[in-house]
Amino acid sequence: MMKDNVYDCVIIGGGAAGLYCAARLARSYCANKRFLIIEAGPRVGRKLALTGSGRCNLTNTEIDPDKYNTDDPDKLRNCLDRYGCTETIDFYENVLGVVLENKGSLVYPSTYKSSTVVDALRFYISDINVETELKERVISIADKVNSFVVKTESGRTFHAKNVVIATGGITYPTTGSTGDAENLLEKLTDDSFFVPFKPALTSLTSEITGIKALAGIRCRGDVKIVDGEGRVRDHSEGEILFTKEGGISGICVMDVSGTVVELLENGDDNVKAVLNLTGKSAGEIFQMIYIRRQMYAQRTCADALSGMLLRSITDFVMKKMGLKCDKMTLRELNDKQIAELSNLLCAFPVPVKGYGDVDKAQVSSGGFKLLRLDDNMQVKDVTGLYVIGEAVNCNGICGGYNLQWAWTSAALAAEGISQNV
Ligand SMILES: Cc1cc2nc3c(=O)[nH]c(=O)nc-3n(C[C@H](O)[C@H](O)[C@H](O)COP(=O)(O)OP(=O)(O)OC[C@H]3O[C@@H](n4cnc5c(N)ncnc54)[C@H](O)[C@@H]3O)c2cc1C
Repeated sequence: MMKDNVYDCVIIGGGAAGLYCAARLARSYCANKRFLIIEAGPRVGRKLALTGSGRCNLTNTEIDPDKYNTDDPDKLRNCLDRYGCTETIDFYENVLGVVLENKGSLVYPSTYKSSTVVDALRFYISDINVETELKERVISIADKVNSFVVKTESGRTFHAKNVVIATGGITYPTTGSTGDAENLLEKLTDDSFFVPFKPALTSLTSEITGIKALAGIRCRGDVKIVDGEGRVRDHSEGEILFTKEGGISGICVMDVSGTVVELLENGDDNVKAVLNLTGKSAGEIFQMIYIRRQMYAQRTCADALSGMLLRSITDFVMKKMGLKCDKMTLRELNDKQIAELSNLLCAFPVPVKGYGDVDKAQVSSGGFKLLRLDDNMQVKDVTGLYVIGEAVNCNGICGGYNLQWAWTSAALAAEGISQNV
C-alpha cells in the first residue's frame, strides 16, 4: 500500500457540504492527520457559486425543522438543535472571516457575492493543508478491514479509515452533481435505504390556454396545491413568476413543487395549483372593483383596473370568463361578474401537467435515508462511512434551508469522524 495514498479521512465531493466538513474537521483535528477532498470537477464549490442568484443565501435565522422533507423529522430536529444557524454564523464570522448581513431572516455574505463564501472555504482548507484532488470522479468504495478503498475513474486508488459521501443530488448536473451517491453506496448498504432522487424546488408546467402570454410577469400572492380528490395538499405565500415555457415558478411555487412531483409521480393526473394573484381576499377585491366601477365607469376594464392589477393578468382572467377587458367598460361589468372576477383572481385554478427537469430544479428530494444514519451522519452498521448534504434524504424550502442542512450535516459528521481518526 502506497503511504502517499493513505488518509485519515477522504471526502468525496468538494461542494458546500464537503468543503465545510473538511474545514470543521481540519480546524479541530489537523495535527498529524491527513484529509483529502476528491472532486470530480475542475473546481470546488461550483453549485455553491450559483446559490441565491449568485449572492448565496447561506442560512436563515428562523429555520423551522417542519419545513424540511425527510424520512426522520425527529433526527433532523435534533441535528439542527445541535448545529444550527447560530453555530454556522459563528463559524463563518469568527473562523472563516466572512462578514454576514441579514435581509429579514435570510443571511448573506455582506458582499452579496457567493464567490466570497466559496473563497473563504477554499482558502481556509488550503491554509490548514487539506489536500484536494480535482478532476477525479470516484467510481467505487470498497469496505476492507479497518479501511476503505476509494477508486476513481482515472484508475487511482486512495485508502482511508473514514469516508464521507458529499456528492450532492441530481440537479444542475453541469455543476458535477449527477446522483453518484446511490451507486457509491450500493455495495455498502441495502438498496432500500436509498430514496430515488427527484427534482424539488422547481417550476411547474401547464397547458392552460393563454398562460404563455404572462411569461415574465411576477405578482405577490399565494399558491395552494389541490390533488385530484380536491384536497389541499400544500400551500405557500410569496412571489409567483410566470415562465416562458407556459408555467409558474417563483419562490412560493418552488416551495410546494416537491408535493406536486410526488402527486404526479403517484399517477394523480388532476393536480391543480390554485393561485391567488392579488395577495388579498376575494371580498377585498370585490370591494375595490366595485368602488372603481363608481369612479371610472366609462373606462375599459383593462384601464379602470390598471391601478390595482397588471393589465396582462386582468386580460388573462377575464378571457377565462369569456370577456374582453379592452373592449368592455367597467360600467358593463355587473355585480355577478365582479364577484366571479374577484373569486378567479383570488383562486385561479391552473391544471399542472409537469415540472421543471433536473437542469432547472434548485435541489433534489430523495437520497440516503436519514433514519439509517446515526446522530453524526455515520451509516448505521458501516463504521467510518458518512453521508452528508444533499446526498441525504433531507431537503428544505427556499431561504437558506438547504445550505443550512449542508453545514449542519457536515459539522456533525466532522464531530463524529474526530472520534475515529
Ligand atoms: C441555482 C441554485 C440556487 C440555489 N440557491 C440556494 C440558496 O440561496 N440557499 C440555499 O440554502 N440553497 C440553495 N441552493 C441549494 C444548494 O446549493 C444545495 O443544497 C447545496 O449546494 C448542496 O450541497 P452539497 O455539498 O450536498 O452538494 P453539491 O453542492 O451539489 O456538491 C457536490 C459535489 O460533489 C461532486 N461530485 C459528485 N459526484 C462525485 C464523484 N463521484 N466523485 C467526486 N466528486 C463528485 C460534484 O462535482 C460537486 O462539486 C441552490 C441550488 C441551485 C442549483
